[in-house]
Amino acid sequence: MSEISQTILQTSFDEIGEIIRSHQSFIIMSHVRPDGDAIGSQLALGCSLLAANKTVRMIHQDGVPENLAFMAGAELIEPPPSEPILADVAIALDTAAKPRLGDAVIHAASKAKIWLNIDHHLSNPGYGDLNRIDPTSPATGQIIYQLITSQKLPLPAASRDAIYIAVSTDTGSFQYPSTSAETYELAADLVRRGLEVGKINTQLYDSYPFRRIELMRRLLNSLERHADGRIAAWEMRDQTRVELELVPDDSEGLIDLIRAIRGVEVAVFFEELPEGKIRVSMRSKNPLYNVCEIAVALGGGGHALAAGIRMAGPLETAKKLVLDAIKNQLAKI
Ligand code: AMP
Ligand code: MN
Ligand code: MN
Repeated sequence: MSEISQTILQTSFDEIGEIIRSHQSFIIMSHVRPDGDAIGSQLALGCSLLAANKTVRMIHQDGVPENLAFMAGAELIEPPPSEPILADVAIALDTAAKPRLGDAVIHAASKAKIWLNIDHHLSNPGYGDLNRIDPTSPATGQIIYQLITSQKLPLPAASRDAIYIAVSTDTGSFQYPSTSAETYELAADLVRRGLEVGKINTQLYDSYPFRRIELMRRLLNSLERHADGRIAAWEMRDQTRVELELVPDDSEGLIDLIRAIRGVEVAVFFEELPEGKIRVSMRSKNPLYNVCEIAVALGGGGHALAAGIRMAGPLETAKKLVLDAIKNQLAKI
C-alpha cells in the first residue's frame, strides 16, 4: 500500500469487504454540488449492495443534477430524512471533508455505528472511523470498482454504467495524467460486461442545455490572462445565474476550455454564489504546480491538478487574493 497516503491509517479492501459482509444496513452519501464521480460512486456501490440483498439508503442533500438524471437508479437517491436513519454503516464517497456532505446528511447519518470514508482527495484528513483514501486514483469510482471486483460483490448494469460515468467525468474523458493502465483496463472490462460506450457518452457529453452555451458566451467575455499568459481566469456574477436561469451543474467542466489554451498553466473560475460567497475552481496543467496547496491555504481542498475553495466575497477581493497567491507560486517555478 506504499502508493497511497502514509499519514492516514488505510483500511484494506478485505477489511471493507468484511464490514459489508457482516452488516445488513447501509447509508451511502457523497458531496454537495455533486459531480459525476460523486453520484456515480454512490449509485455504483449502492446498487451493488442492493443486489447483495442489503438494506441501502442513498441520500443526497442537493439531489441528482439534471445532467445525470438519465442514470439508471438515479430515482433511488433521496433527500436526507429529518430524523437520523438507524443503520449499521454510513459510507461517505468522494468527499474531501466531512462538512461537504451537507449538514442535513451528516445529521441523517449520525446514528450509524461505523463511518467509512472512501475517497481520492489528497486533502482528505481521514474523518471516518475507517478510511480508504487513495490520491493516486483518478476517481472514487475506480476505488469502488476495485472494491466490488476484489470482494466479488455483485456488479449489476446500473453499477457498471455508474462506474464508467464516475471515472470518465473525473478524468476529463480518460485524458488527465492520473488516468492509468488500470483505468483503461477498468473501462475495457466494463465494455466487455455490456456497457454501451456510444450511448452513454452521448447522454453524458452531447446533451447540454442551450443555456450552458449562453453561459459560455458570457464567460468568454470576462476572460483575462495574467502572468504572461500562464494564468487564464474568467468569472460569473450571480446576476448571470438569474438571467440565464442556470442550475449549478451548468458550469461543470467549462473551466477545461481555458485550461486548454496553449501556454496556460493554471486556469481559474470565480463564481459569485447567491449568498455572496465566492466559489473558486482551479485547474493546473503543470505537474510541478499544485493548486491543492493554494486551495488548502485559503480554506479549500482537492487534488494537485484540480482544486476548489469556497471563500468570502466580494468577488474582487477573492479574485485578488487567489490570483496573487497563484502568481507568487508560479514565479518560483
Ligand atoms: P471543482 O473545481 O468544483 O470541480 O472541484 C475540483 C476538486 O476540488 C474536486 O475534486 C472537489 O471535490 C475539490 N473541491 C472543490 N471545492 C472544494 C472545497 N471548498 N473544499 C474542499 N475541496 C473542494
Ligand atoms: Mn467529486
Ligand atoms: Mn472525484
